[in-house]
Amino acid sequence: MAELRIDLHTHTTVSDGSDTPSDLVDNAVAAGVHVIGLTDHDTTAGWAEAFQVAQLRGLGIVPGIELSAQILDDTGHTPPLSVHLLGYLVDPDNAVMVDELAKIRSHRDDRLRLMVERLAEDLDITWAEVADGIAEGATPGRPHIATVLVRKGIVKDVSEAFDHYLASHGRYHVPHYAPRLNRALEVITQAGGVAILAHPLSGDRRYALKHASHADLLIEELAELQRQGLSGVEIHHRENAPQHVETLRDAATSLGLIQTGSSDYHGDKKPNRLGEHLTDEVEFQKILDRGTGHPWLPPGDTTA
Ligand code: AMP
Ligand code: MN
Ligand code: MN
Ligand code: MN
Repeated sequence: MAELRIDLHTHTTVSDGSDTPSDLVDNAVAAGVHVIGLTDHDTTAGWAEAFQVAQLRGLGIVPGIELSAQILDDTGHTPPLSVHLLGYLVDPDNAVMVDELAKIRSHRDDRLRLMVERLAEDLDITWAEVADGIAEGATPGRPHIATVLVRKGIVKDVSEAFDHYLASHGRYHVPHYAPRLNRALEVITQAGGVAILAHPLSGDRRYALKHASHADLLIEELAELQRQGLSGVEIHHRENAPQHVETLRDAATSLGLIQTGSSDYHGDKKPNRLGEHLTDEVEFQKILDRGTGHPWLPPGDTTA
């Protein structure tokens, strides 16, 4: 096979994507991707279906999650910053992780209802309409509200929904429980997973990395996270601020952190297209070498 096209960050209907796990597999094959990371928010519920269909289609699957986490700033006064941690090859039955995921999902549910209540004071929207679009047991998130706002013509698209009504600094936003980043790193690593900081230079309010533009401080900051269990950073991602990517890449290289690239595909819930950013095979191999919680499914010949 020619060089593997590896896209390590995707979502399905078990969180805030619009493809079922089966549709995701079909769409990845159609997009010419050979391996996907399946990384739904705070759940592993999509793995079984994805593995089953991927085996038939010859697609490789790296089972994973995108764990919600938080960072408190130094003063502790401003609201915590929400950060996302990708965990690859985790053991889905690990009790500590299972408990943590259930807790996050339950708080996300309460929080989304509260956000809809706040929005309903000004807009024609109900919780029943939003709940209708959340699959049974799925991790609820703001995109589920965005979809309803678009469908009802209140906004023209998902981006406008976030800009006007759903932004984390906006008046309708409600935060949800998530473990501190150091705890999240511990959860992933003790579940046998490989922890990669997702889109570290995406800034809804601030970047997940405080010292994005200062090489020396950035290395110190990343080295501390590495001591806490971080294995790598998502370098190639459409939301990473391009002016800081090179500094991040240099810092990651000097610390021996794994460097990934991925689409963060959400079906029609986001413009991100499968395969728009890819992970180098050498970097990918480092993930495979390090993860001990659950095997991946290598790409194979089509059997159906
Ligand atoms: P939540 O998990 O409920 O806090 O919502 C965050 C999710 O919303 C992210 O995982 C993205 O899928 C999506 N999202 C965040 N910002 C935007 C945006 N500006 N446009 C579209 N989707 C977004
Ligand atoms: Mn999402
Ligand atoms: Mn994310
Ligand atoms: Mn994501």
